[in-house]
Amino acid sequence: MDHDDARRLGRREMMRRSLVVLAAAPAVTAIGCGGGALECTPGPAGDQAMRTALHYVDHGPDASRHCVRCQLYTGGESACGTCSVVAGGIHPQGTCDSFVARS
Ligand code: SF4
Repeated sequence: MDHDDARRLGRREMMRRSLVVLAAAPAVTAIGCGGGALECTPGPAGDQAMRTALHYVDHGPDASRHCVRCQLYTGGESACGTCSVVAGGIHPQGTCDSFVARS
């Protein structure tokens, strides 16, 4: 292997590694913006009391009753949103007793 071969191999290896990094970027982004590791902050103690009273949970067992499908939810599917009844950060897959289905 001469010097040019070694240089070409070095470039090829660099390109390969760059593609691996680019391919992994969306997965890292998904984790950062809520791919499963999303945690929504409840807020002050008073807010937590309201969450508890309405049996709010971050992961509801019934997908058809998730916050993201509730009329009172404002936000997207991959980040914490807000709710007009329950204070604090609201998980898109959360739910509570005050769920109102979107029409
Ligand atoms: S009312 Fe309950 S189900 Fe609806 S968005 Fe608020 S916390 Fe989620």
